Amino acid sequence: MSIQEHITEIRSRIDAAARETGRTGADIVLVGASKMNDADTCQEAIAAGIDALGENRVQEMTGKLAQDAYRGAPLHFIGHLQRNKVKQVVGKAALIQSVGSVELLREIEKVAAKLEVVQDVLLEVNIGGEEAKSGFAPEAVREAALLAKELPHVRVQGLMTIPPIAAEEHGNLAYFQKVYALYVDINREIYDNELKYISMGMSGDFEDAIRAGSNMIRVGTAIFGQRYYAK
Ligand SMILES: *Cc1c(COP(=O)(O)O)cnc(C)c1O
Repeated sequence: MSIQEHITEIRSRIDAAARETGRTGADIVLVGASKMNDADTCQEAIAAGIDALGENRVQEMTGKLAQDAYRGAPLHFIGHLQRNKVKQVVGKAALIQSVGSVELLREIEKVAAKLEVVQDVLLEVNIGGEEAKSGFAPEAVREAALLAKELPHVRVQGLMTIPPIAAEEHGNLAYFQKVYALYVDINREIYDNELKYISMGMSGDFEDAIRAGSNMIRVGTAIFGQRYYAK
């Protein structure tokens, strides 16, 4: 199946899941997780109507930017971001989805101020409390949101999460529901309901994420096929 056919199929599944919650597919942003796919493949996905592309690695993103891989669609940064690489991402990514520490927020503020831009970000929630994953602990998100509000060159647009690898089908539904509840609370209490995005759901679980309230999903394998890490 071509990328176009994959996207068409995914869009219809998105629409069906969204309708279960009184929404439609038009309410869900489809981000293609394009890691390990080349610039031509990125352009193919954009031509097929993907809403945005998301990259994980700064070096790969920088190389593909130079090849104009993302022309025609917003670029998101979705991977673990080291502080010393913030300079290479701020002002280039329309949305940094993976901001999981106060240090990172402050560094983004510093770089964005220097560039005189306001950087849109999502706060990443480590909902499974996993040692190896970045992100704010659920109970630390409020405080991070309050701090971010004081940073003039950072604009929080919502929350993002990557739950633990599910051992069984629907295994992440409860995590998605927890992050959604957090999103609703923070949105009301801190942001006057002006947050836009709750980014959760990947190839294997985006329908459950949408059922739980997600409005932005990050899909790699189901669009681009398997990634071959040995290459
Ligand atoms: C790779 C990646 C995805 C997509 O994963 P698939 O299972 O291939 O759909 C989503 N989010 C992040 C942060 C990723 O790194």
